[in-house]
Amino acid sequence: MSAPGPMAWPTFKESVFQEKGALAQERPLQRTPLRLPQRTTLPELRTVPVTELPGVGPKIAAALKDLGIISLSDLISHYPSRHEDLSNVKKISDLRVGEKATLVGKVVSTKKLGRPVRGRTPGFSVQLYDGTGYMLVTIWGRGWLLNQLMPDTSVVVSGEVQRRYGLQLAAKNLEVIDDPETARDTAHARRFVPVYPVNKGINARRMRDLVHRALHASGHILDPLPAKILARHGLVNLHDAVREFHFPADKEHLATAMRRLVFHELFLIQTGLAARKARLEKTEAGRSNRGDGRLLNSFLKSLPFGLSTAQERVIGEALEGMRLEKPMRRLLQGDVGSGKTVVAVAALLTAVESGGQGAIMAPTEVLAEQHFISISVALSDLPVNVVLLTGSQSATERRVALEAVKSGQAHVVVGTHTLIQRGVEFQDLSLVVVDEQHRFGVGQRMVFKEKGTTPDTLVMTATPIPRTLSLTLYGDLEVSVLDELPPGRKPVETGLVEVAERNDAYQALRAELEEGRQAYVICPLVEESEVLEDVRAAEELYEELAEEIFPDRRVGLLHGRMRAAEKREVMRAFRTREIEVLVATTVVEVGVDVPNASAIVIEGAERFGLSQLHQLRGRVCRGLHPPKCFLIGDPKTEDAQKRLEALCKYQDGFKLSEADLHIRGEGTLFGSRQSGIPDLKVAKLLRDIEVLVEARSAAFELVASDPDLKRPEHRPLRREIQDLLGKDVEWLFRE
Ligand code: ADP
Ligand code: MG
Repeated sequence: MSAPGPMAWPTFKESVFQEKGALAQERPLQRTPLRLPQRTTLPELRTVPVTELPGVGPKIAAALKDLGIISLSDLISHYPSRHEDLSNVKKISDLRVGEKATLVGKVVSTKKLGRPVRGRTPGFSVQLYDGTGYMLVTIWGRGWLLNQLMPDTSVVVSGEVQRRYGLQLAAKNLEVIDDPETARDTAHARRFVPVYPVNKGINARRMRDLVHRALHASGHILDPLPAKILARHGLVNLHDAVREFHFPADKEHLATAMRRLVFHELFLIQTGLAARKARLEKTEAGRSNRGDGRLLNSFLKSLPFGLSTAQERVIGEALEGMRLEKPMRRLLQGDVGSGKTVVAVAALLTAVESGGQGAIMAPTEVLAEQHFISISVALSDLPVNVVLLTGSQSATERRVALEAVKSGQAHVVVGTHTLIQRGVEFQDLSLVVVDEQHRFGVGQRMVFKEKGTTPDTLVMTATPIPRTLSLTLYGDLEVSVLDELPPGRKPVETGLVEVAERNDAYQALRAELEEGRQAYVICPLVEESEVLEDVRAAEELYEELAEEIFPDRRVGLLHGRMRAAEKREVMRAFRTREIEVLVATTVVEVGVDVPNASAIVIEGAERFGLSQLHQLRGRVCRGLHPPKCFLIGDPKTEDAQKRLEALCKYQDGFKLSEADLHIRGEGTLFGSRQSGIPDLKVAKLLRDIEVLVEARSAAFELVASDPDLKRPEHRPLRREIQDLLGKDVEWLFRE
């Protein structure tokens, strides 16, 4: 027998092969006498395919794969979505109408329900007997459960008791369990039954079984977290936590296990981020950018308004960061219309004062040109040369611009992502501002690299990510928050208008125009793949508005497919009020700033995401007239309905994004993976804010004491982080 420890896998595999012939499909769990390595780690279990587990053939393996489960580690980390609490089971004879109840009983008979009712897929009903009485249980959808519900099968159901041809239970959940009479200590017969995400190929019972077997087969899971941290934060060890989270003895054990796993998940991510940050700070040379205020002060004096307190504070934070020797990496979060541009210009001028160049990058040409115009105008009395660099410039324009950037003649460079393309050389770039950063993706922010030194970066976003989320997403950035709007802003009166009543919205819009103000009309969103459709829809809407609804008004059209010069001309005309109604696609979604526009109509509003709607509405919160927003559409899904309701209810982007998280569920947030941060399995950011803050400070403390995680007691942790964050922290693992 080989020594216990990480290298003991062959023993496990041998024992599995010996077992295979003898396996019956429905063997009782407790009689699976595998000889196992006694101690293992999750990364090791990641190398063992589920097919090594007795009873997992190709069919089950395929069903597991559909759920993303490939290795033993995946299987034991396939956590229950909830637990069914059987300690609260009611008796059928005691039930009353209107009450919510959980029942355990045996199937007497089942019946398919025929027609769909109120648009819902038909389900089935089950006659249930629990020793005290019979109860009809109805459940919608999930027809594939039917063939598991043979007479005499034990099930647990929960739902609401209703009166409909006598009493019946409208069930939300139905799970097959072992017969509570005969099954004693099996996975199914506990008081807290775990309920797993499952699919057609694998039922709830089988899943519980497999997890149980996998836990059994895994031996003792070693804890990668240093003992000191466990002690300090009152955490149970990983082995117990995993087990108890699947099959808890009671509520308290469940809560303890969950807290540990949430901490674990967040701590690993935060440690990776902290290590990345430490590494960058060590390897990157920055320089101190100190301004003398000569440009900045005249700029601030020339503004037609005074700075808000929040703007003053945030400018202070940015200038302080630039003054430090190390490269600044700062995220500026501020709701739509909070006045981020002024902060950006203040930082850019400081870069120029300190003898370098500043660049600001915008996600669209429309926005880049707007910044170019407004910054040029704002700085027209100062000896500052502002240059524009976009993809649509003519070859000559581009050559002249590139030359100015290279020679240092250009002090402030405004552009789109072309700024980071090859062939753009700065004379001495010392600050980069990235506007509407969420539109770029995180990877791009690291691309700026200047001869030996890394410029300071200030990334700005109006996407109102709740602070907790920004801690996680941007764990290696400093965060500044503009938490106050400029004085005098009025809330945008927002209303939902049914399609049949859209003329009402246009009448209200007309009233605004008659007061000398301007308006946007946003075209419904068309699938991205159908760009031509998008253009056609925009043109049709434009024609309808120009010819039928506002024949007496100057209506303009702006969409992404127009030539750059045309777009420029339309925006110029809108800014100068030659165009009164601008029909546009989402090209105006971010950043566009025309304070005289006081109304916006959003057609097909149900198709937009919540943050998109908030951004669009933000186009009309910039002036002093009480602005209006009309959402036209009829939401067909519950989510769409909730989104539109949230928008009518809240003005504040932070509130809205929290609502959005609730509506969408948080899993999708990191879905795109563009952030380089893995999806969360156990933690829920809204719920686990406190644990996040705790895990974050623990992670940064640990990295401060051992930046490369090289100490022997930190090696297991390093291995876990490598598995989790992969390429993003590759350097951590180079010797
Ligand atoms: P965002 O944060 O969305 O980028 P902007 O920088 O475009 O916001 O500012 C929105 C509008 O508010 C602009 O018209 C700007 O001139 C104006 N603004 C900015 N700061 C103030 C302030 N302190 N007082 C009054 N208006 C301001
Ligand atoms: Mg902006």
